[in-house]
Amino acid sequence: LAGRRKLGVALIGLGGYSTGQLGPALRETRFCELRGVVTGDPHGKGRRWARDYGFPESSIYDYDTMHRIADNPDIDIVYSVTPPGLHERDVLAGAASGKHVICEKPMATSVAECDRMIAACEEAGVRLSMGYRLHFHPYHQRVKALAAEAAWGGPIAMQGGFGYRMGTGYDWRVNKALAGGGQLPNTGIYVIQSALMAKGGEMPMAVTASEPPKTRPEYFSEVEETINWTFEWADGSKLEGTSSGVEGSNHFAATAANQALRLQPAFSYDRLRMELDGETLASMDGFNQQAHQMDAFAAAILTDGEDIVPAAMGRRDMVLIDAIYRASASGQAVAL
Ligand code: NDP
Repeated sequence: LAGRRKLGVALIGLGGYSTGQLGPALRETRFCELRGVVTGDPHGKGRRWARDYGFPESSIYDYDTMHRIADNPDIDIVYSVTPPGLHERDVLAGAASGKHVICEKPMATSVAECDRMIAACEEAGVRLSMGYRLHFHPYHQRVKALAAEAAWGGPIAMQGGFGYRMGTGYDWRVNKALAGGGQLPNTGIYVIQSALMAKGGEMPMAVTASEPPKTRPEYFSEVEETINWTFEWADGSKLEGTSSGVEGSNHFAATAANQALRLQPAFSYDRLRMELDGETLASMDGFNQQAHQMDAFAAAILTDGEDIVPAAMGRRDMVLIDAIYRASASGQAVAL
C-alpha cells in the first residue's frame, strides 16, 4: 500500500466521539485521512473543522446536502457518528452517494434497520463496516486467538460488565427512539462482543435477562436503568453480563479448563489491562484503537481484502440485544 493515495473520510455528526477520538485518530492514520464533514452546524463547527484539518469549505455538508458528497471525488468513505436512531439515514445517504460507509455502534435501533442498511450498501456496491474499535486492540485479538487455536479446552465461564453512572441532563442515550435502548446497546454491546470473540463467533443457544427495580425512574423512563443477562451455548459455556446507567463496571473474565483471563479495564479507549493465566500482559498504552480500525477498513478497500468488523457483525449484535430485551420483558428464556 506504500505510495497509494490516502482514502478520504467524511465524518457525519461532530459530537463527542468525533471531536475527542475519531478526528484526532485521523491525524495518525496511514491509509485514510479526514477530508470532509457533515454537521447540523456547517457555518460554525463545519468551518472550524475545515480550518483545523485542512480541507476545503466545499467539503462541509449538512444533513440536507449530504447527498451531494456523491459529486466529491476527495471523499471515499463516510462515517456515521450520530445517535443510533439516525444511522440508517446516514448509511442510506452514503450508499446512494456511492461511498463506502462506516457505522458507529450500535448499528441501529432494530434488526429491520440493519437489514435495510445492508441491502442498500449491497445494491450500491459499497462496503459497510462497523466502528468496532476493540477488535483491533491486541488484547481483544488475543481473546479471539484463543478460540481460533481451540485453546480453551472446554466450556468457558464468562462474566462481563460495562456501564457508568449517567448524569442528570439531557442525553440521547436515554431516548429510546434515538438510542434503541439504554446502556445495553451503548456499553453492554462490548460485553456481548467479548463473549462472542471468546466463542469464535458462535451464537449462544439461549438468552435469559432481568432488570432490577429502577432507582431513578424519571431519568430512565424510556429505557432500562440496569440489565443483567446470560447467554448459554450448546457446549455448556456461559456468559453472565451486566450493563448499567447507575453503576460503573468495565471488566471481562473468562475461565476454562486450560485458560483463564481477565481484562480490567476491558473496554476503555486506552490503558487496558489483561491477565492471562495469572500473568499480566505487556502494556499496550498509547495504542490508538480508532486509527487502527479506520486504517484496517481503508486497507480492506484498497486491497479488496476482508473486513473483520463487517455490517453482518453489527446486525448479529442487534439480534442478541433484541433477544436480551425479549427475555427481560417476558421473564422466559429466549431460544436463538
Ligand atoms: P454526541 O451526542 O456527543 O454527538 C452526536 C452528534 O450527532 C451531535 O453532536 C450532532 O452533530 C449529531 N446529531 C445529529 N442529529 C442529532 C440528534 N437528533 N441528537 C443528537 N445528536 C445529533 O454523541 P457521541 O459522539 O458520543 O456518539 C455518536 C455515536 O458514536 C453513537 O452511535 C455512539 O454510540 C457512538 N460512540 C462510539 C464510541 C466508541 O467507542 N466506538 C464512543 C462514543 C460514542 P452535529 O452537531 O455536528 O450535527
